[in-house]
Amino acid sequence: MNEFSLIDRYFKNISFQREDVILGIGDDAACLRVPVDMDLVVSTDTLVEGVHFLADWDAYDIATRAVLVNVSDMAAMGAIPCWTTLALTLPSLNEGWLQRYSKGLADSLGVYQIALVGGDTTRGPLTMTLTMHGLVPKGRGIKRSGAKVGDLIMVSGDLGAAALAVSFLDKKNELSDEVVKKLLQPTPRVDLRDFLLQYATSAIDISDGLAADLNHILQASQVGACINLEKIPVHPTVKQHHHEFATEFALRGGDDYELCFTSSPDNASEIERLGLSCHCIGIVEAELGLRAVLLNGDKIPLATAGYSHF
Ligand code: ADP
Ligand code: MG
Repeated sequence: MNEFSLIDRYFKNISFQREDVILGIGDDAACLRVPVDMDLVVSTDTLVEGVHFLADWDAYDIATRAVLVNVSDMAAMGAIPCWTTLALTLPSLNEGWLQRYSKGLADSLGVYQIALVGGDTTRGPLTMTLTMHGLVPKGRGIKRSGAKVGDLIMVSGDLGAAALAVSFLDKKNELSDEVVKKLLQPTPRVDLRDFLLQYATSAIDISDGLAADLNHILQASQVGACINLEKIPVHPTVKQHHHEFATEFALRGGDDYELCFTSSPDNASEIERLGLSCHCIGIVEAELGLRAVLLNGDKIPLATAGYSHF
């Protein structure tokens, strides 16, 4: 098998077919039709062996995770993911691995009705880069920079389980499947898209940890925030394992791919009425920086450093 038969066998026909793909895999470039009333939203994420996944992971899970983390970026923008390209670097031609990888890719792209429309295949250390293309109604893409003083700070679901799974990587069988899945197959919150488009003033997906990612919103919006640590939704298994450190774990742990967003306080009752399992953890303030309010009312500064590759 050579590079071209590999592409034909494992990538060319695996993916969801969409009518807006004018040209997909097989030409020098893909050609896609963007509706006139939509903006094109583009994001790229790279996964590197030893950094984002380990060599002994099932290739199915690696492919799935690569798709889901890219879909999560679309969710944070309020966009519908539509098309993706894949730049894949493989150390060798391992057909068993490619079969699992291709199946993981096909299954996860199928769930979100995303077409694989092109890519590049090279030899080298195992690395993959997906570039996701999505659509958002014209001018409505949700930015990090829209948070306003007085806005509520919301989190879309439980935090900390993925980081817990990372800390158990060599003894995964001690955790429930549900917790391991939070790491291997996170659920990008595309289900919140209509809600976010209507109510969010800013949004980000939580990949590096709540404190670090919320801080990106604060910096982009040139505001600060005060949060109540008691209000952070901590996954129950994290509470079992870490007791008094559970909140800290949820605040710092990455890889959950829930959303953190801000919304006007006028929407508080509407958010509650919709019952979307979103939790209000604090308020946007004019004073820059991230703080936590203690039970006695005192405020303490919170560290916001997240994972940095350099
Ligand atoms: P080029 O020489 O123009 O770079 P390639 O020979 O690299 O083209 O790729 C041939 C076709 O296969 C192109 O349409 C490209 O987008 C597609 N392709 C290559 N690798 C992948 C991949 N891993 N996944 C999906 N499509 C791919
Ligand atoms: Mg090429």
